[in-house]
Amino acid sequence: MERIQEVVGQARAAFNSGRCRALEFRIQQLKALERMVKEKEREILAAIKADLHKCRHKAFIFEMVNVLEELALATGRLPSWAAPQPVKRNLMTMRDEAFIRYEPLGVVLIIGAWNYPFTLIMQPLVGAIAAGNAVVVKPSEVSENTAQLIADILPQYLDQKLYPVVTGGVPETTELLKQRFDHILYTGNSAVGKVVMAAAAKHLTPVTLELGGKSPCYIDSDCDLAVACRRITWGKYMNCGQTCIAPDYILCHPSIQSQVVENIKATLQEFYGADVKSSPDYERIINKRHFKRILGLLEGQKIAHGGETDEASCFIAPTILTDVSPESKVMEEEIFGPVLPIVPVKSVEEAIEFINLREKPLALYVFSNKKELIRSMMSETSSGGVTVNDVLIQYGVLSLPFGGVGNSGMGACHGKHSFETFSHRRSYLIKDLKMEILNSCRYPPSSQKKVDLIKCVVFKQLNKSQMALVVLALLGIVAAVVIKGKPLLAI
Ligand code: NAD
Repeated sequence: MERIQEVVGQARAAFNSGRCRALEFRIQQLKALERMVKEKEREILAAIKADLHKCRHKAFIFEMVNVLEELALATGRLPSWAAPQPVKRNLMTMRDEAFIRYEPLGVVLIIGAWNYPFTLIMQPLVGAIAAGNAVVVKPSEVSENTAQLIADILPQYLDQKLYPVVTGGVPETTELLKQRFDHILYTGNSAVGKVVMAAAAKHLTPVTLELGGKSPCYIDSDCDLAVACRRITWGKYMNCGQTCIAPDYILCHPSIQSQVVENIKATLQEFYGADVKSSPDYERIINKRHFKRILGLLEGQKIAHGGETDEASCFIAPTILTDVSPESKVMEEEIFGPVLPIVPVKSVEEAIEFINLREKPLALYVFSNKKELIRSMMSETSSGGVTVNDVLIQYGVLSLPFGGVGNSGMGACHGKHSFETFSHRRSYLIKDLKMEILNSCRYPPSSQKKVDLIKCVVFKQLNKSQMALVVLALLGIVAAVVIKGKPLLAI
């Protein structure tokens, strides 16, 4: 545990050395990270396979492409993201420089989850490096192969003192959380999210919490059910249902429930063949604890399809539950497995009420051709994000902030949003010591005349004589701006 304190101390000293402030250094580290991802592709895919039984094609698409995209974006855009941004000034500050600059926060802690063990560490890491921070990386011990690989390869490519990796389980994470950080990004369940936030509060450290929850999926009767169900099947059963933004349950009218089941069954056959267990495209539950937890959710349910399990290999077949009661256990907690309950609702209004009675979800999915219906869903509910007529793909749109609201999290990541998350928006107002006359109205003794002048500057309420005065003052200011030296912003 002393080593953890030492590692964080070294990261702090490395940050204080100032070397990660220079944009060239950050870009060089990002390029080194990109080289790591490319050169170690085989090892990374093998570690993910060992943890989640994920085939190399899927692991490449869903764990590596996003990271490479994120790296290319940050490397290319960093100079413009980090450039000072001039802001609007008023008459009183016309001569001054006013701008915002995104500056590093300091030492950041990134705690990852096991379900996408590589990308959930790497994507925020890109943003944190781009923003100029030192970063302590804590991969999930549950996906132990990927965690160990990250610990082995990261120091071969990146500055070892600035970006250390800490492996281990709850004791190590607990010890890490006792240290002082300047920002913590945690990905995982909401219960541990509260532990992380409480620990961060002791140091007044801001947090980004990437949590989960039950993401609803509403299917309107009047839509192409074959297409809707193919997309839903893809998003629900990918990674064996262990995806934070997987559709957790379906809400639809009772009259289309059996068609929904038939379409999902047909798609499962198309995707995984007759024997799902032998399909290279179907993953496994991460461990026995989660396997047993998911089995517990099936108790007393009407299984319309699937339900086969094999404890030895942590296999649970893609499963559909019909006529599920809102009060059942499977509707109480995030499923995070290949079990898809269908809860019949009589109308979109009932669906909206159902969603609003529960915690705010990370994702909300709506399948419909009706603009009015889609509009109601969007404006009468709240969630981290909304995706219409598809699932999951919002994650790949790096220009959209990815994050939850309420119980599904706080703060956001991806692309420029990660850079902003790990930066301090520092405001600058730079004056010189000339034109003191412009300041006279703020100094004592106060008078009605000074109040009137301030009103006319701030609220632009001018009578004719004031207008003339202002024009004169403006001319003076313009002249003063022209003869003023080079602004700091341009340096
Ligand atoms: P997990 O078990 O890997 O835990 C995450 C991290 O928390 C680990 O690094 C672990 O060491 C640490 N941890 C666990 N218990 C702790 C404790 N008591 N004190 C301190 N640290 C502790 O992951 P998980 O929670 O099983 O992940 C699944 C959850 O994460 C799901 O709810 C899922 O929806 C959510 N998730 C969210 C996102 C997102 O981007 N919003 C992404 C992936 C997963």
